[in-house]
Amino acid sequence: MKFINDKQRYEGLFETKDKSGKFVLFYLSKGKGETFDISGREAAKVRKRFAFGGYTVNNAGCFINDSCTGCSDCEEICPFDCIYKEEAYVINSRYCVECGLCYKVCTQNAIELPKKM
Ligand code: SF4
Ligand code: SF4
Repeated sequence: MKFINDKQRYEGLFETKDKSGKFVLFYLSKGKGETFDISGREAAKVRKRFAFGGYTVNNAGCFINDSCTGCSDCEEICPFDCIYKEEAYVINSRYCVECGLCYKVCTQNAIELPKKM
């Protein structure tokens, strides 16, 4: 598929081929999605959500609310090392794959699952 209109990164006119090899032109005017870059840190997927044409997206990844007592159980269980302590524990949503392990281990109901895209 080839982007043939330089108007914006996602919105615009595209060309591709159908199964019979005929060229098909279509215009993307609105949409939302998520990209994963798996070329960087080992076993970590850098995610990015995007929307255009009037759509919006919710933030990706779990997050930690004010009920956290700082026990560090979630930090120890996260397979992608995306939970760390600043003034309080936080989750780096760029690397969180929403596996839910931290949510299950937390006894304080301090970890909230992400909203749908
Ligand atoms: S497991 Fe829950 S209470 Fe413990 S540090 Fe993580 S979020 Fe905070
Ligand atoms: S959902 Fe999984 S990847 Fe995301 S912070 Fe929790 S344990 Fe880590």
